[in-house]
Amino acid sequence: MPGFASLVDQKRPVRLLTAALSSGNLPHAFLFTGLEGIGKKTAAMTFAMACNCFDLQGDSRAEKPESRLIEPCGRCRSCKKIISGNHPDIIWVRPSGEMIKVDQIRALCSKLVLKPYEASKRFAIITDAEKLNPEAGNTLLKTLEEPPEHTVFILTALQASNILPTIVSRCQQIRFNPIALPSIQTYIEKTHGLEPAMAYIIASMAGGSITCAESMTKSNWIEKRNWIIDEMEALPARPINLSLAFSEALSKNKEWLFTAFGIMKNWFRDIVVYQYAPDQIINKDLSEQIKTASKKTNVNSLTLKIKAIEKAERDIKYNSNLRLTLDSLIITLSKGY
Ligand SMILES: [Zn+2]
Repeated sequence: MPGFASLVDQKRPVRLLTAALSSGNLPHAFLFTGLEGIGKKTAAMTFAMACNCFDLQGDSRAEKPESRLIEPCGRCRSCKKIISGNHPDIIWVRPSGEMIKVDQIRALCSKLVLKPYEASKRFAIITDAEKLNPEAGNTLLKTLEEPPEHTVFILTALQASNILPTIVSRCQQIRFNPIALPSIQTYIEKTHGLEPAMAYIIASMAGGSITCAESMTKSNWIEKRNWIIDEMEALPARPINLSLAFSEALSKNKEWLFTAFGIMKNWFRDIVVYQYAPDQIINKDLSEQIKTASKKTNVNSLTLKIKAIEKAERDIKYNSNLRLTLDSLIITLSKGY
């Protein structure tokens, strides 16, 4: 269930939100900023639930710390409707394709001129607000300048600098932190029953994002990693036509390609790192294989390989020919250590 306690490593945002809730003095608009997948939408939903819950739990003035955290009950009529996405006064606006279009904001504003149906606090939650196109942004700004009654806006975004400054200045900004590696590790160990070594690898690759760690866990990431590493290790001994079959396979998984590049870089990094600090490697479950590879290592050649991967990443981002770029990368990686 969404709840403040389910937000990992976000003590300060939770404190600010629950303080606003207990003071009863809510700003008209919040802007939640921070990386993708660290709990901004969960926090928005929880806050909307808490502001409308019929059986709010906890008390911020309680003596015992465990009783202080205010939480929505998750069971009352209002909480249930919000969780199921059926509350008429909790209005979500998400990008339609690449943009949030002016028609979406106009439709939102036309709902907000009416009174709320049943909520004591109505919420308009606009996710990925950096995708507001200029016209949509200006239309939203007009509403923020004369905010409708009983309504709280929550905008979420990666960073405030991507949004019209005039919108930002109307919002109370709350910054969400990237989640620390040990917290992500513990979270996926608990929720998905992963072995600590596997959870550590996934947490290391998730870039501070719980959502990313979860999707890696669900998509058999470890098997894919093993496939990539086995292929890379086999490259130097293979004839070139077989090596190019690997680049063909990679080119067919374009949505996964940048993850594959991350796996490759970490593998070569681990081989270098093993010589100086074996406990600092990321692929901890493969330490024997890394040890063997590191014995025949030439650091210069590994650095060249990592640079070649970074170049391929950049070139593909700038729309170079996918197959040619991958072929050229695989030929560089086939050179041995
Ligand atoms: Zn409730």
